[in-house]
Amino acid sequence: MSLSKADRGELEFNPERGDLRTFCHNIVESFQINHFHSHKIDFECPSAEFFADFDRRLLRRALSNLIDNAIKYSPRGGTVTFCLWQGDDRAHISVSDEGIGIPPDEAAFLFDAFHRASNVGSLPGTGLGLAIAKQAVERHGGAISLPPRSDIGATFLIELPLKSDREQSRSLSI
Ligand code: ATP
Ligand code: MG
Repeated sequence: MSLSKADRGELEFNPERGDLRTFCHNIVESFQINHFHSHKIDFECPSAEFFADFDRRLLRRALSNLIDNAIKYSPRGGTVTFCLWQGDDRAHISVSDEGIGIPPDEAAFLFDAFHRASNVGSLPGTGLGLAIAKQAVERHGGAISLPPRSDIGATFLIELPLKSDREQSRSLSI
């Protein structure tokens, strides 16, 4: 549903200014509570707080899909690391795990709907989570990527403008 809306450019986008650190920490905390028996989920952020314009519903969906994958595709007892840091005009988020990793020649396709890598074995999934995350991040004017192969597990990176276009045009018109 949200994918077909996104394809038609209709994905609702309602950015609001808020503390991205607290927002991300709350999401990570809910995964820590639900998965404390199987995974350690670390939250790292050097800033006490930082403010950005973001759509809570869309960003929650994107980040939850990445953390959900990091847990699903890594063994019990593994550590998932969520990092948030601030660049000049962008927020950067990385989600890393110690799991099965991604075959390098398949990385380019994983953001396509229904695409699953050949090493997933019997781990369940529909192949939609990353496609939805990509649409949600791009709706913010941001980008999601997979840095070149890491030695162990997988790392996904998100970058988001701290100010949404809508806020930028509002401040320009004042
Ligand atoms: P679902 O729609 O339930 O999320 P899914 O997890 O298979 O299903 P995506 O989240 O879109 O779908 O991920 C697409 C594919 O990318 C996965 O099937 C898997 O092959 C690969 N993948 C995604 N995240 C990871 C990860 N952290 N480690 C290893 N492979 C991953
Ligand atoms: Mg998934």
